[in-house]
Amino acid sequence: MNVPEIFGSLVFSDKVMQERLPKDTYKVLRKTIKDGKRLDSSVTNVVASAMKDWAVENGATHYTHWFQPMTGFTAEKHDGFISPQDDGSVISEFTGKDLMKGEPDASSFPSGGLRATFEARGYTAWDPTSYAFIKDNTLCIPTAFWSYGGEALDMKTPLLRSMDVLSKQAVRILRLFGDTATTRVIATVGAEQEYFLIDKEAFNKRPDLIYCGRTLFGAKAPKDQQKDDHYFGLIKPRVKAFMKELDEELWKRGVFAKTEHNEAAPAQHELAPVFTTANIATDQNQLTMEYMRKVADKHGMACLLHEKPFAGINGSGKHNNWSLTTNNGENLLNPGDTPESNAQFLLFLTAVIKAVDEYQDLLRISIASAGNDHRLGAAEAPPAIISMFLGDDLTEILSAIANGTLYNRKDSEEMKVSAKVLPTFFRDTTDRNRTSPFAFTGNKFEFRMPGSSASIAEPNYILNTIVAEELGNFADALEESKNFKGDLFALIRDTLKAHERIIFNGNNYSDEWVAEAEERGLLNYKTAVDAFPHLSDDKNVALFTKHKIFREEEIHSRCEIMLENYAKTVCIEAQTMYRMVRKRVLPAIVAYTSELSESALKKRSVSASMHCNYEEDVIRKLSEIADLLYSYTNEYEKVKDNAENDAVYCKDVILPLMQKIRACADEAEFLTSKKHWPFPTYGDLLYSV
Ligand code: ADP
Ligand code: MG
Repeated sequence: MNVPEIFGSLVFSDKVMQERLPKDTYKVLRKTIKDGKRLDSSVTNVVASAMKDWAVENGATHYTHWFQPMTGFTAEKHDGFISPQDDGSVISEFTGKDLMKGEPDASSFPSGGLRATFEARGYTAWDPTSYAFIKDNTLCIPTAFWSYGGEALDMKTPLLRSMDVLSKQAVRILRLFGDTATTRVIATVGAEQEYFLIDKEAFNKRPDLIYCGRTLFGAKAPKDQQKDDHYFGLIKPRVKAFMKELDEELWKRGVFAKTEHNEAAPAQHELAPVFTTANIATDQNQLTMEYMRKVADKHGMACLLHEKPFAGINGSGKHNNWSLTTNNGENLLNPGDTPESNAQFLLFLTAVIKAVDEYQDLLRISIASAGNDHRLGAAEAPPAIISMFLGDDLTEILSAIANGTLYNRKDSEEMKVSAKVLPTFFRDTTDRNRTSPFAFTGNKFEFRMPGSSASIAEPNYILNTIVAEELGNFADALEESKNFKGDLFALIRDTLKAHERIIFNGNNYSDEWVAEAEERGLLNYKTAVDAFPHLSDDKNVALFTKHKIFREEEIHSRCEIMLENYAKTVCIEAQTMYRMVRKRVLPAIVAYTSELSESALKKRSVSASMHCNYEEDVIRKLSEIADLLYSYTNEYEKVKDNAENDAVYCKDVILPLMQKIRACADEAEFLTSKKHWPFPTYGDLLYSV
């Protein structure tokens, strides 16, 4: 296979645009893409026509505006390129207007009460900063999605807004350091994606996996990840074939899937792409998840993207690597060889530290979901407490600044804060802290809390916005300064002193940390339901409205959507569990106990003193469990209507009840014969490929 040849072959990329568009059209479009400028409507017809010709040549018969409503998935509505004429003929049609704007019915997408149902119209608008691509004979045009009244109904709109805001504030800072060349600062993102692969036949026998994406039952397998022998282990041939095809499909669509390896849990794997702009990375991550599912299916497997498909072993996350790059390619989070004297780097770093500390709540909310609640705080995932890891060197440098002491580096005795940017390569490979939710990894931050199934739009628009806020405040202060160097140093020092508490280089998984974090006054919203309502806190409303990321009503509506989503997820799970117990587990227990009774009876008919300890014990235990399961499920029947649309009730009543049901069923699994147990076990699932 010729990788360079297939890479991006199904993308209407910069290269294709350059080849196919008239020079001036290309220039205008390029400016839009690079500088975030609004697109001149005079060029859209030309672009549309070139795009259509290219798409048709590459096998497309339809086009769709591809958007990301607040379901966490992508949505599309396909239209044909050809439209019928009165005389029975067809003409090929795709105008600038078709490219720029669509009008899908928005009434079935979550809006959190923003729209009255009669205002069902929604708009999709072309996002020229993310490239169009072809999948399944359809030209997919990345678009933003909003309501008739102009409220954002998707993930992309706030992300694009946040990228603009961040750029504006970051450029102000660069100007202070004498950079007159940079016109735009871009948030770059690379999202590592974890997932499980299991055999499709086994998957199809589990209603919980089919309806909920996670197992609601399952006793621990005798061997799972105790020996850590799966991590980076040999990749099985079927998985290898899957990865090969997945890579190809992604490469064709411009996603540079770079490394793939086995993860810690059996059947768990990871894909890391090459980073790109936050917006494109978000689109690409959606595509990646879509192709993971599709390609797995083709290979007779099911790809599980849920945060916690199996209890008791590692769940899956998405490591959101985030950095800032100028339009000239300079990474602003690169410390250089002597970070202590790289004031510009220190200022950006300080802004991130302050942002993460002041907006712990928003970062927590940005990754909160019913699924991620099962993962956060569990053994292998960061706790729900936000803190930052900087590594020992950087932490020492910062504390030297904060305390006004000297930083002793072997090759420099004195700490200097100079305004010079040193774009040399510095990479701290010695300390790696895999337990931190927000780790500095040499020239970028790795936010490790996002769940594996969620869109990365939210964590990124939050990150962009909170960092923009701090950069803006810094710029406000420093632009007025008469003594730049002195004031800059004082600003860095005072800010670090005030926000030191957010830095933690130790083991985030330990119980001591939970206690220490509380002493430090760090937030610990244990569940998504605890976190969500704080989106509407005054300080957060002030932040979002100041930067025009959201209007106030949009914030309340998002909050409502999150809670609604949570409740729906739990209700579906509970309902699935209820049916599995009533229709499968209880009948299986009855069948097995009656088989045991028959055996005991037969034995006793041979001799009244025949031993039947096994039969009698198991019958007794299983009967007890069956009674419990029956009474818990009766209880569920009584309360289930209260749970609808009530996230708090779901968390406080339904989830604990589900926990009790599960515990009973898992014990029954041990006691029941393999032949009678109605579902593949954890062992069957995890070693099915
Ligand atoms: P590490 O060795 O620190 O894990 P890698 O180079 O393997 O770093 O990258 C891990 C992930 O981080 C990849 O998905 C990569 O694309 C992403 N990444 C690397 N540099 C940046 C950056 N400047 N901005 C955003 N993401 C980045
Ligand atoms: Mg990783």
